Amino acid sequence: MKITMIGTGYVGSVTGACLADLGHEVVCLDIDKEKIEKFSKGEMPLYEPGLSDLVKRNVRECRLSFTTDKKAAISGADVVFIAVGTPSTKDGSVDLKYVDSAAEDIGKFMNNYLVIVDKSTVPVGTADRVKDIILKSQKTKIPFDLVSNPEFLREGQAIKDFMAPDRIVIGVDDGAKARQIMHDIYKGIERTGKPVLFTDVKSAEMIKYASNAMLATRISFMNEIARICERAGADVKIVAQGIGLDSRIGSRFLQAGIGYGGSCFPKDVKGLIHTGEEYGVDFKLLKAVEEVNEEQKRYIIPKIVKELGDLKGKRIAIWGLAFKAKTDDVREASSLVIISELQKLGAVIKAFDPEAMHVTKNILKNVEYAKNAYEAAEGCDALVVVTEWDEFRGIDLARVKKLLKKPVIFDGRNIYDPKEMRDMGFTYQSIGRQ
Ligand code: NAD
Repeated sequence: MKITMIGTGYVGSVTGACLADLGHEVVCLDIDKEKIEKFSKGEMPLYEPGLSDLVKRNVRECRLSFTTDKKAAISGADVVFIAVGTPSTKDGSVDLKYVDSAAEDIGKFMNNYLVIVDKSTVPVGTADRVKDIILKSQKTKIPFDLVSNPEFLREGQAIKDFMAPDRIVIGVDDGAKARQIMHDIYKGIERTGKPVLFTDVKSAEMIKYASNAMLATRISFMNEIARICERAGADVKIVAQGIGLDSRIGSRFLQAGIGYGGSCFPKDVKGLIHTGEEYGVDFKLLKAVEEVNEEQKRYIIPKIVKELGDLKGKRIAIWGLAFKAKTDDVREASSLVIISELQKLGAVIKAFDPEAMHVTKNILKNVEYAKNAYEAAEGCDALVVVTEWDEFRGIDLARVKKLLKKPVIFDGRNIYDPKEMRDMGFTYQSIGRQ
């Protein structure tokens, strides 16, 4: 199968490389020249575990290539995936300008029957909009089918998630041919027994938003439970364990912390609230989920002020900038809010992240960057754990204690044991625990 991936970001690059690895001939297209040059040279412009090896192998074996040439990439393809970004606009609605422009390019350059697969997260009804744009931009009428195939991969384990997903959702309204082609694309994965759910297009579009909104709801729910635990003397980690053992609930996504971030949950929660409004539905629950999350990103600030007093000139170490571990993605990361709030109060920030510093260097001003976690801690009045990187879990805390000016740790991800920390002589505060 000749597949073109429009958009070579986190989703497009992983999907493209994985589909190539399944034996397809894949061309990844992007408008970002620098990104494409890097991928072509085998240099990864983004951090995703395992991606570099996968890309290099498939390029070497001539199944994967990268280009900015729209015409060459689209003409002659059997299937074109749209994997461009769908950010939020100021009012929270989904900005579809990249999807629209991809659709226009497809209409302009397609020269044979195509299956067009929307992998970007788009509001219910977008497939109809994409169809219209393609029809308008076609010079001669060439048939095509439109499929919705939302992506559920998680950054940091994207390759595993793509190759062994919980499910593959494929929305097709008409066209047995399109359905068969989608089967053929995912044959390699289907063989592993992973369920493929064929739906209509609109339901597939909704499944993606409903999934992310449900996960975000669990996080905000647990963060509010954590607030009560903290005041009442309970431990939110134990509470999560206890409720997670209920098979109706399950144990995943029950970690309290400093709020969700990333390129998906915040924008998808906003997007679904907005879609609700368009259809006359006031999604009160999701509005609260968002409000709780915004509060949670700042939750740790008063605790720091209470402990350290006036923050003017105080040095604070920040461990972790990425919105979660194993990625360099800092979009909507809690670190950005925490650092900006601390700076407003006069604190001096020294930060370390194993992968994301090259990104934040362009975003955050007046931040000192450390070469490693120990260097970040050195001479600081307090340390804040913002991202749950494994290397922070296994760190030599006795050494950290010696390096810090004062042994004060605020753990926004509950990665340490409170009693052990106190026994070591730390002033230790976490989320929803004593
Ligand atoms: P990204 O910003 O990393 O990548 C998008 C890429 O599309 C960019 O490289 C951009 O230059 C390119 N692009 C924009 N317009 C283009 C055009 N007209 N032609 C060619 N390339 C174009 O975004 P992402 O994180 O990969 O997300 C893509 C979509 O997948 C979004 O809708 C997102 O919500 C969804 N999604 C993301 C994740 C994730 O974890 N990142 C997971 C599931 C779904």
